[in-house]
Amino acid sequence: MTVLPGRVLVVGSVNADVTVRAPRIPTPGETVLGEEAHVSPGGKGANQAVAAALAGATVSLCGGVGQDTFRDPALAGLKRAGVGLTHLHTLDAPIGLALITVAAGGENAITVASGANARVTPAHLPADLTGFTHLLLQGELPLEVTRDAARRARAAGLTVLHNAAPARAPDPDLLAHTHHLIVNEHELAAFGGGEAAPEAQASALLARGPRAVTVTLGARGSLTVTPDATYHLPAFPVTPVDTTGAGDTFCGVLTAWLAAGQPLPEALGAAGVAAALACTRPGAQDAMPDRGAIAAALA
Ligand code: ADP
Repeated sequence: MTVLPGRVLVVGSVNADVTVRAPRIPTPGETVLGEEAHVSPGGKGANQAVAAALAGATVSLCGGVGQDTFRDPALAGLKRAGVGLTHLHTLDAPIGLALITVAAGGENAITVASGANARVTPAHLPADLTGFTHLLLQGELPLEVTRDAARRARAAGLTVLHNAAPARAPDPDLLAHTHHLIVNEHELAAFGGGEAAPEAQASALLARGPRAVTVTLGARGSLTVTPDATYHLPAFPVTPVDTTGAGDTFCGVLTAWLAAGQPLPEALGAAGVAAALACTRPGAQDAMPDRGAIAAALA
């Protein structure tokens, strides 16, 4: 696999996803009998690191894991994709777990036990960031860690990408230190833009720090605003099987392409194609395309 220039640091979560298919989501107090549990690697940090590495970037992941039964399945995808794990700390807590119930109709309910992810502190961040060109953040680690990473990365001259997921009201300091903000429509709503159109809401966010704001729109593609231009990218046409991890694939591949020095429109195009391809197979990390598959779809 060709290795792209640029070095990406992802500071984010690592989970094992434990999924059970059941006839329906249990109501409070109810027990529902489902099928066998399926354990797969997850966590937005790990997912995005895998997507970027499969796309050809040199990627390191900084975060926290436990030393327990779910460690090996959680790390399998990262190891297979060649993500650097020297900044992944083993902490005195169980690894993060997402307990996912999928009902017959496809509806799901998810409970996340943050575990070791919640024990990561700013002291776990790499002391020297000068070897990296890009930092990719999400919202599944303690806010002070994410905020500190962004602040230090900016001071060290890195480009900071921030996927503000899961949805919550924005932290002004983190926003001010973000170069490129990526949200889906649900997360955009948490930014408090009211009823305005996504493009207007994204444009308004440019005044609060970022120099680019991308809103992913599911099967309608993505919208990106910068001070100079607006890019509407239609989705790459696929027959979706499972859209889990589409957003994570988008963020990881966008970062990989930008780290390789590609212009923003090309990077957005590759991210959209990769995210669509990830929808054609079940799972998150297992469904992510590699550089060859992305290039073939773009050709
Ligand atoms: P999230 O997974 O965070 O909810 P979205 O649903 O917006 O995010 O999906 C992220 C990206 O994945 C979209 O911008 C699009 O490029 C791609 N995508 C998602 N669903 C589809 C689909 N049905 N067909 C093609 N591409 C899709």
